[in-house]
Amino acid sequence: MPETPTVYVTRQIPAVGLDRLRERYEVVVWDGKLPPATEHIEAQLASLDADGLVCLLSDDIDADVLDASPNLSVVSTFSVGYDHLNLAAAAERDIAVGHTPGVLTETTADLAWALLLTCARRTVEGHAYVDADEWETWGPRLLTGADVHDATLGIVGLGKIGTAVARRGAGFGVDVLYTGPTRKPDREAELAEVGVDATFVGRDELLAESDFVSLHVPLTAETAGFLGEAEFRRMPEDAILINTSRGGVVDTDALDTALARGWIGRAGLDVTDPEPLPGDHPILRHAPERLVVTPHIGSASVGTRDRMAEMTAANVEAGIEGDDLPTSALGDAGTE
Ligand code: NAP
Repeated sequence: MPETPTVYVTRQIPAVGLDRLRERYEVVVWDGKLPPATEHIEAQLASLDADGLVCLLSDDIDADVLDASPNLSVVSTFSVGYDHLNLAAAAERDIAVGHTPGVLTETTADLAWALLLTCARRTVEGHAYVDADEWETWGPRLLTGADVHDATLGIVGLGKIGTAVARRGAGFGVDVLYTGPTRKPDREAELAEVGVDATFVGRDELLAESDFVSLHVPLTAETAGFLGEAEFRRMPEDAILINTSRGGVVDTDALDTALARGWIGRAGLDVTDPEPLPGDHPILRHAPERLVVTPHIGSASVGTRDRMAEMTAANVEAGIEGDDLPTSALGDAGTE
């Protein structure tokens, strides 16, 4: 009788995914709250002769990890982004790589808007004010913020999440500017149908003209440090930056300087560099007045995390069977 394939999982993912894997495979799960060390992942893959690996975006899956088990046929990441995986090395070794696109688009777009509204209307600051027992009376200038309705929203990367964020602008009557490698007439038409006027512009025009700039690009060699000092200086002094893409797309020191010198108004970050952001990081001195940070929770709704777990399991099954993965990360230029 053939041996049951083994799968190593680097964290407790939702039960719906783990249970599905356990129906067919020997499954070993890292039970720690923090990610296992890369050496530990390698050792586990080697000792299990693992056929599959389920990983998270916080794991560094390099060529040594991929070489740890000669049986390894599939790596399935519980994320849409895959900048933590060496895709070229996986392709060279004929190891399939799966990810979870599409399913977290709307949930992440919701979070981008949560940060945008929070920064514009200073809600975190307002809560801290009440919590500190400072609320004595109604004040004509108390916590006045920025209007969101009728604003100009700049989207960097009009992909799936960028488009979902832009679409939500319909209810606020915003005008959308977007930038990226190419114009997207189909996306423009999709947005026009819900009454959002989206105009393709160059990066500098977008930065200069937008009240809100929301980042939705993958982290690549080209997008790393996309926003640095020169870019912040181009933005209006009351502009609000929202980043739900990857921390490395923004130069953190430059953002710190931009907030300190008033080159921009506020920033809302779901992703940071470094990540996790230590509680004593200097940039946090701007919070909550100029900065709001959430701990990479863009896709963190119960329903979406369950769907991601199912997709992750489905990719493992296909990889071990030698079938095409339902959602492969190999052969894509972006994060399809
Ligand atoms: P997507 O559909 O592939 O969209 C990415 C967009 O970025 C595409 O329109 C692409 O344009 C554009 N782009 C690529 N390089 C660019 C550049 N140099 N300058 C400007 N635009 C550029 O990806 P998605 O599903 O929307 O996800 C976007 C990113 O969000 C992911 O890569 C991931 O890192 C991040 N994310 C974060 C969370 C979270 O929890 N905060 C959750 C999900 C995803 P082309 O199509 O022309 O190449």
